[in-house]
Amino acid sequence: MRNENRYFDVYPKIVPANSSVLIIIRDRYGQSFLRDDKEYEMKYFPLERFSQTGEYKYQEAKILKPHNGTLKIQQFFTGEQEHIIEICEKGNEKHAHRWQFRIYSLEPDLFCRKPYKGDMHMHTHYSDGYESPAFVTASCRKIGLDFMAITDHRQYYPSIESQEAFKDLDLDMLILRGEEVHPPFNPVHMINFGGNFSINELIKNNEKDYYSEVEKIKEKISEVKDEDARFQCASCIWTFERIRQGGGLGIFCHPYWQVREGYYISDTVISYLLKNKPFDAMEIISGYYRHEEDSNTLQVARYHEERAKGNNIPVVGVSDSHGCVNRDLFGWYYTIVFSPELKQEKIIKSIKELYSVAVEAIPGESPRAYGDFRLVKYALYLMREIFPDHDEICFDEGKLMLRYLEGNSNTADLIEKQKGRVPSLYDKLWAK
Ligand SMILES: [Zn+2]
Ligand SMILES: [Zn+2]
Repeated sequence: MRNENRYFDVYPKIVPANSSVLIIIRDRYGQSFLRDDKEYEMKYFPLERFSQTGEYKYQEAKILKPHNGTLKIQQFFTGEQEHIIEICEKGNEKHAHRWQFRIYSLEPDLFCRKPYKGDMHMHTHYSDGYESPAFVTASCRKIGLDFMAITDHRQYYPSIESQEAFKDLDLDMLILRGEEVHPPFNPVHMINFGGNFSINELIKNNEKDYYSEVEKIKEKISEVKDEDARFQCASCIWTFERIRQGGGLGIFCHPYWQVREGYYISDTVISYLLKNKPFDAMEIISGYYRHEEDSNTLQVARYHEERAKGNNIPVVGVSDSHGCVNRDLFGWYYTIVFSPELKQEKIIKSIKELYSVAVEAIPGESPRAYGDFRLVKYALYLMREIFPDHDEICFDEGKLMLRYLEGNSNTADLIEKQKGRVPSLYDKLWAK
């Protein structure tokens, strides 16, 4: 976290583009950083200082005096971009404090959305993971997620269990249903995120229907010559259609995953799926270990190549984690969705409308975001300026959720008292 964000309370930080907004800068812990008996010089720089007007004129520095340790700055914010407000103590030039505060201005379509962090691909001990659905769910809040789904191989039930475990609590984290779908004779992995019924169950209980329906779809696919690949493509179309029927988001998983024998699916299938997009979103950042990082690089490169051809693909980043404690992957990768609300339908709709980025945040490395340029730029700001405070609140709540699982009787009351902390943080940081 930047020192300024720890020492000072700055709000609002997210403002509408092309408007004048009153920014409050307050000494957060009463450390006398802003003293009423001192003067402060304020300079303002938009990050895109040349692109807005063609040339940049240095703005005259303004002299400000705090009142009750608080500075009030009325500033006009041009365009959609990041802005720097620099405050420097006057008089003591040699040892003067100098702080930079960062504000982001957004066009209306983004300004009316809030950023929500989520992981939509994770495993528990019901498949090849290590922990229970409830434990994984509470751990998700601890690492700062706003929404999540358990997606065990061939099993939908664990995701219901994760909801059941916290059904008596009114949480600010959205716990959704999910599963990783593995249709017969189709190696392509697909995530049913949020769907209200199990596709794995549907296939198991009606295998004959599955085969006959897939055969019918197969007949209509003329561009794929290889018989097996054609079946696989048809099976994917069938699966993604069923996921949508249940109100879920169909995710095309880890396209460049390498198994012992090579990539787990053929390029024929990958290319068909990318061109025809029967899925709703593609994992461009998947849950790969460090030694498998080639696969994420390839997915990102392929995504950009498709974009260059004019093919817009909704993206997600997922951990595909198999354990939360002292395990790799958990928290390394996630998705930021820019959505008007933290509700399943809104989150899914926003992803489909290309309002999401995939994030890679491997421990010890700088976080990276992938997706639409405009969203990546904004996401970098959020990861630096907004999410540290957001994540601290989530950490407290996640710890309480774990205590609740321990059977601590008064934890439910404590959780109730914590309710609404992230929404009110966002409320304060977004201009009215
Ligand atoms: Zn998989
Ligand atoms: Zn998986």
